[in-house]
Amino acid sequence: MKVIKGIPVSPGVTIAPAFVFADDASDIPEYAIEPDHVPEEIARYHEASRLARQEIEALRDKAKSEAGEEQAAIFDAHLMMLEDPDVLERIEREINETLRNVEAVLLAFETEMIETLSSSPDPLIQERVSDVHDVVRRILGHLLKRERLSLADLEADVVIIAKELLPSDMVGMARSRVKGIVTEAGGRTSHAAILARAFQIPAVLGVGHGLVAQVRHGQEIFIDGDKGIVVIEPDATMVQRQRLAMSAKLERERADRELRDKPAIMKDGTPIRLLANIEVPEEVENVLEYGADGIGLFRSEFLFLGGHVPGEEEQYRAYRKVVEALNGKPVTIRTLDIGGDKVLPELGAAGDKNPLLGWRAIRFCLEKTEIFKTQLRAILRASAHGKVKIMFPMISTLDELIRAQGLLAEAKWECKAHGYAMDSAIETGIMVEVPSAAICADVLARSCDFFSIGTNDLTQYTLAADRGNEKVSYLNEPYNLAVLRLIKMTVSYGNHAHIDVSLCGEMAADPVSAVLLAGLGLRSLSMSAPSIPAVKRMLMSVSLEEASSLAHQALNLNSSTQVSAMLNSRLNR
Ligand code: PEP
Ligand code: MG
Repeated sequence: MKVIKGIPVSPGVTIAPAFVFADDASDIPEYAIEPDHVPEEIARYHEASRLARQEIEALRDKAKSEAGEEQAAIFDAHLMMLEDPDVLERIEREINETLRNVEAVLLAFETEMIETLSSSPDPLIQERVSDVHDVVRRILGHLLKRERLSLADLEADVVIIAKELLPSDMVGMARSRVKGIVTEAGGRTSHAAILARAFQIPAVLGVGHGLVAQVRHGQEIFIDGDKGIVVIEPDATMVQRQRLAMSAKLERERADRELRDKPAIMKDGTPIRLLANIEVPEEVENVLEYGADGIGLFRSEFLFLGGHVPGEEEQYRAYRKVVEALNGKPVTIRTLDIGGDKVLPELGAAGDKNPLLGWRAIRFCLEKTEIFKTQLRAILRASAHGKVKIMFPMISTLDELIRAQGLLAEAKWECKAHGYAMDSAIETGIMVEVPSAAICADVLARSCDFFSIGTNDLTQYTLAADRGNEKVSYLNEPYNLAVLRLIKMTVSYGNHAHIDVSLCGEMAADPVSAVLLAGLGLRSLSMSAPSIPAVKRMLMSVSLEEASSLAHQALNLNSSTQVSAMLNSRLNR
């Protein structure tokens, strides 16, 4: 039994066998070969691609019977690439000429293909990047005699053990099979953490370097996502702990259901709107189940991270489904927030030297105007089916906001020209998540209908500390004085301009922080749906006067540790 500590990011206790996910190019050997070993090396390639073909054919048949022709076509494209005589000829020639092992030749082929495809102006050609990657990884898996590590094809319950999980890994994985997640990197507000909470998968992140090397495939793993504890090969006491946690969870769920239809009203009668954050349309079930007052943040980029880039029709259908399910309650759709850790090589959103400070979100959309307007048209069309709002991410200057509004006006004209119904007075707002936006919120408030404060990025950018890097996680904590001041400032500028101000960072999901936020003037909070009942319960137990007094004290303390201790003691936690 070995105990490891990490950052608790998604609650729950679980035990399941490890699935070690280390799909890392740095593990692939590259070496020179003797000329007389060339035929042997080429034979290795043939055998590996034969096995890959069998595997793809089986996947294609499975996709056809379970998901239909459209999904199966992806695998037909993979087979075509695998059987392409030009590719085969090239691999054989390169092994012959460069006298390098087949793995090295394949990697070089992959890099070159990806560069060529992603620089094409045609989005259909750009989309082929993920196919090339998938086929090459599959052949490499057989060459290296590794089990194919795909999170999408999990066939038994597992705890995923990884260096890092990207948002695209999280979206693509077979969710019902994933009982827990442990990663070396990551922090409380990293996207893997946000998604783990949304999908209600217990998770401990940021356990530090060396985890992947310590755990073997299939070893039993215990996770306590409330305390941040991971145990390799747990003993009987841990099994008992898991049983107790399961029954406590059932009890909590019963109590949560009783709260579902009650409004969140503080003791003095002040109402607080509790909205949900969602990443994928399937989460709508949770939004209704936990009694959210609407959707405060639909992270639309996750529709793009599932393996292909959706067009206008597909996006329209996805947004419409969510809007109709909400039955008149508001749905705030955030436009594509790609870049940073949400890489999308198919669209050219990858490879920045400083991704978090680079070509991200609205910066990307203002240049890729066709991608942006396609999305805006899809959202506008969905607005004919309920209450929809549009939100622009990562706005740093007024100029960006005005340009985004200009493109929205063009998208409205295009919808009109096609005769599409829409809400032409659709409300538009911005995420306040870059310090410059908070500091100049008075100026920005004149050109939009609402603000939503994104404390995850606002904290990361104010403290200059990557939210996914466990080594600086001590800086990415919620009660930093600079961040609290920026929140207060944004709320007061918003109130002054009579526009709505909400907050949709992870801070809103913590019951104690929610009281502080109410005290700082917020009347609307958006969080992962399963967090709503606990936040509601806490807000119902205090008055606005108490919350304001706590906020006043917090702003007069200098360290976040002091703020945390003060809040926890005053709120009996
Ligand atoms: C934020 O930055 O606080 C936010 C809500 O957006 P995301 O977590 O998607 O970056
Ligand atoms: Mg953000």
